[in-house]
Amino acid sequence: PKISPFLEPGKTTKVGSLAILQLSRDNLQPVYLKAPSGKHDGYAEGAVVNTRYGSFPHSTMIGVPWGSQIRASKVDTGSRGRNNKRKRNKSDDDGKEASATVAEEKTEQESTPAEVNDDSAAVAKKIVADVSGFIHILPPTPEVWTSSLPHRTQVVYTPDYSYVLHRIRARPGSVLIEAGAGSGSFSHASVRAVYNGYPSEGERKGKVYSFEFHEQRFHKMNQELKEHNLNSLVHLTHRDVYNGGFLIDGKSPEAEAIFLDLPAPWEALHHLSRRNPKNPEDKEWVSPLNPKKSAHICTFSPCIEQVTKTVSAMRRLGWVDIDMVEIANRKYHTSRERVGLNLSMDRGVNNSARDVDEALSRLTEIEARFREHAARSKESDDEMDGDEDDGLIKRREKKEQKGGRKRGGEKKVKIDHKPDSPESFEALPSGVPMWMEGRLITRGEPEIKTHTSYLVFATLPIEWTEEDEAAAAAARHPVI
Ligand code: SAM
Repeated sequence: PKISPFLEPGKTTKVGSLAILQLSRDNLQPVYLKAPSGKHDGYAEGAVVNTRYGSFPHSTMIGVPWGSQIRASKVDTGSRGRNNKRKRNKSDDDGKEASATVAEEKTEQESTPAEVNDDSAAVAKKIVADVSGFIHILPPTPEVWTSSLPHRTQVVYTPDYSYVLHRIRARPGSVLIEAGAGSGSFSHASVRAVYNGYPSEGERKGKVYSFEFHEQRFHKMNQELKEHNLNSLVHLTHRDVYNGGFLIDGKSPEAEAIFLDLPAPWEALHHLSRRNPKNPEDKEWVSPLNPKKSAHICTFSPCIEQVTKTVSAMRRLGWVDIDMVEIANRKYHTSRERVGLNLSMDRGVNNSARDVDEALSRLTEIEARFREHAARSKESDDEMDGDEDDGLIKRREKKEQKGGRKRGGEKKVKIDHKPDSPESFEALPSGVPMWMEGRLITRGEPEIKTHTSYLVFATLPIEWTEEDEAAAAAARHPVI
């Protein structure tokens, strides 16, 4: 079977790849890349994604390494005139200039010939001249999928699911039960956690058994799993788990990790026992749990009343180590103050060249110190090799050396650091690299905005029989 791009995306984009276009930090758009040749949706140049940052024909996004920056097409794709136009006079939060009449942020799927207006050709020419934006093309990962997926329900977000997967010990080769599937956010994260490629003989294949009782969501999710080549690793069942439980065609999935994102998890818990809770002697009863491993569960509920009911059901059913956690995720924005032109650590978010003059004079000062230092250290000439490409600092040093003066008696300094590396600290006169100039400022969000849910964790140990005890004793004191 084809391997999912979520698990092994390969190095470069291909025709048919699911790509996540990052328009700005929090604006992600999933797109299937279409073949560059032939007409698509009436576009002579093939499929085009039109955004406020310009137009991006799919042909410019195919065969590039994942993570590449894609520049807006300079060519008039002819498609821009199909979109609504509006005047924008602001820079976006990434510092991309969009100060012209630009295409409304719409994808080619959304734009229709009905939107063509008479002056479209003239406007399109202006756009070609003015818009010089860019986007980044990212491989699909559970994280970016969570941020870009079509929401059909509330979803579990990355800060919660990363902690949940760790606590329920989801790892390569684990078998995990999930209900309900909802929009598939958790499913994508969990399948990556349990994926173990091609397991060796005797080793179990990591798998997710997912359940959803809402029919449309079930079909939509099934379709997505197929499109993402995850359908062999995520087995989705259309079922009400309160009544139907977690068996697959009457057989046990033998799961050891469980995640319940349901309105009433306590109503599903009796199915997740090792024995029939109503009749422990019932030999016909099949448990969905792996008999050889402890089971680790997490339930995800927004209200404390739900937590109380879940915890009490867990106690009655023999779960131990029950505890509850709330993830309070807080974003921190870190930047350097007064370094000037986009030396912010956070991808230019705070590069309002608020004080451009000051920034420029600061840079000029740094440059002067740099030159002075270069002139002084030119005496290290004999310690340097002749490689012209050894980095900015070295090249500057060499340049300085040509016209520099000799200053006798100074200590020789060996400079062979690359400018971007942390070692380049020493290469600058103040002993501080340019990107470290300025005071480090960290600002947290003033308050945590959203309560997501309470996470209840618990463990159901394996059953320990007389035979197990005898076997353990024999292993400790082997009979000779
Ligand atoms: N965890 C999902 C995600 O990350 O995308 C979101 C789950 S959503 C909040 C809850 C889902 O549980 C809904 O899609 C709902 O239809 C489903 N559900 C509710 N009761 C159910 C039941 N008894 N059996 C199966 N699914 C159920």
